[in-house]
Amino acid sequence: MNAAATPLHTVCPHCGTTNRLTAGSLGSAPDCGRCHRPLFTGAPVALDEAGFRKTIQKSDLPVLVDFWAPWCGPCRAMAPQYEAAARELEPTVRLVKLDTESAPALAAQHNIRSIPTLALFVGGREVARQAGAMGAADIVRWTRAHLPH
Ligand SMILES: [Zn+2]
Repeated sequence: MNAAATPLHTVCPHCGTTNRLTAGSLGSAPDCGRCHRPLFTGAPVALDEAGFRKTIQKSDLPVLVDFWAPWCGPCRAMAPQYEAAARELEPTVRLVKLDTESAPALAAQHNIRSIPTLALFVGGREVARQAGAMGAADIVRWTRAHLPH
C-alpha cells in the first residue's frame, strides 16, 4: 500500500460522522459520506464536549485545539489569527475551538490553567501545548514544528 492510499479517519464538523478517507484524497476537497457537506471548510470548528472527545479520539489527522472563552479579550483578539491559520493548515491538521466556559470539566481534565491555550493532539494524545495568544504565522510555524514527520 502506498502512502497516498493509507486510510485516514476524520470527524465531520457538521454532523459528527466519522469518515474514512485516504491521504491521497485529502487534497481534493472531500465531502462527508453522510451529510455531503465539505469535511474541511478552511475554518476552525466550534465543538462541544462530546464533539471534542469524538474528534480527538476518532481522528487520524492531527487536531489543533484553541481552548478559549467568550469573556477573554486576548482569545477574541486571536480568533481571526486562528481562522487564518486554519486556511493554511487544513487539511493536514484539523483546527477546532473549545469554549472552556461551556465545558469546564473538560478544561479541568486537560489542566487548562490560562486561556488562550493551544494544544496539538496526534493519535488521541496531546503532543504539544502553548499558552498565550499568537499570530497566524506563529500558530502555523508552531504547529508544523510539532507535527509527526
Ligand atoms: Zn457530515
